[in-house]
Amino acid sequence: MKLSRTLLLVFVISAILQFQAQTDEAVIKDIYKTSLTNGNSYQWLDYLSNQIGGRLSGSYNAELAVNYTKTELEKLGLTKVWLQPVMVPKWVRGAKEYAYIESSEGKTTTVNICALGGSVATPGIGVKAEVVEVKSFEELATLGEANIKGKIVFYNRPMQADLIQTFQAYGGCVNQRYKGAVEAAKYGATGVIVRSMNLRLDDLPHTGSMTYEDLPNDKRIPSAAISTNDAELLSSMLKLDTGAKFYFRQHCKQLKDVQSYNVIGEIKGSEYPDEIITVGGHLDSWDLGDGSHDDGAGVVQSMEVLRLFKVLNITPKRTIRVVLFMNEENGLRGGKKYAEEAKTKGENHIFALESDAGGFTPRGFSFDCNEANFNQVLSWKPLFKPYLIHYFEKGGSGADVGPLKSETNVLAGLRPDSQRYFDHHHASNDTFDAVNKRELELGAATMTALVYLYDTYGVNPIPNPSTLKD
Ligand SMILES: [Zn+2]
Repeated sequence: MKLSRTLLLVFVISAILQFQAQTDEAVIKDIYKTSLTNGNSYQWLDYLSNQIGGRLSGSYNAELAVNYTKTELEKLGLTKVWLQPVMVPKWVRGAKEYAYIESSEGKTTTVNICALGGSVATPGIGVKAEVVEVKSFEELATLGEANIKGKIVFYNRPMQADLIQTFQAYGGCVNQRYKGAVEAAKYGATGVIVRSMNLRLDDLPHTGSMTYEDLPNDKRIPSAAISTNDAELLSSMLKLDTGAKFYFRQHCKQLKDVQSYNVIGEIKGSEYPDEIITVGGHLDSWDLGDGSHDDGAGVVQSMEVLRLFKVLNITPKRTIRVVLFMNEENGLRGGKKYAEEAKTKGENHIFALESDAGGFTPRGFSFDCNEANFNQVLSWKPLFKPYLIHYFEKGGSGADVGPLKSETNVLAGLRPDSQRYFDHHHASNDTFDAVNKRELELGAATMTALVYLYDTYGVNPIPNPSTLKD
């Protein structure tokens, strides 16, 4: 009798589980179908990219993007849409930069550069000096002040081509861009030129943020990126002629912080409204292109997650929130502000997903969470197989959602194919035509499917005992 009751219970539970699995499979199929046949992410991106354009923090375009996305979210019939005020830095590029290499014989060749975000301008007449080429800060230190003072430091360590994870190749180089000026200023350099963070050889300079740390204003030296083709040219000219000089002129400026906003919308949860699931991308972009991949794609995909819930009549159990973060590129003020306010209000953020790796074909996700939650997510992997989504690994999530990290929540980043991402990243060819409609829509559907699963099952609230210290 006892045995048969147990058997019955097992049967009922397995039937429920099977039914739920079939439901999940069907819902996810609907999500993909709707995103691909009746999606809106591409139309939103078209407007953001072609009607508004580059959206550097504090710019007029950034303000237009705030207003546009707020209005579009209001059309979706969400429970609530609002703006979260945040003060952001305002850096302006000014007139286009100009640079050339001058050989000892006085012959000049113009090259393509752009100021790095946050850099100071050159003096009005520009900077001209001999060049010291280095591959690392160690090499710089070995050369020391005797070889560097009064010269322009040229950082020329390329991205490592054999790394399949191109973000790792980026991570292996980006210190040249971010800290190159501070390091070179220690030895009396007059300026810094950095090889663009780009795996391919082309003529486009790629901007990006840099820091002076606490260097006083009079010690700050101008710093610019040079295209990969021109980095190769400069390097080969220096090999032939060590006395070759580099000239550059740029007019950028750091202004006072200005008021801006994170744009937020949510569907209130029907059963557990206090458990918050956040999905987002960053609304700001660099100014050279229109920021379609970085991160217009993530913005419209995140908006699409909530739109798909509405269109498919999925009533979420938990609160699903879209956050369009301001100022990821040169300050992360939006991401920090969002987490700070969440903490002040005592909000329970169980899951946060960011899309900020381009609008290319999705491959999967990387997860920042404890073992118990990672095991849960691995159990959902088969549901993604029909969509060729296979990458479920532990790793980073996203810069904007990172500050939400806790012991028990799950942070994740969408991981699209990254082979072409750095061809466009922070350069003038990060434009709408570089984004493929289907790839973008597949990314939106993949994010929605994962959000749906987290809404259905929640997270494991107890950290795995094996990960806890005594
Ligand atoms: Zn980005």
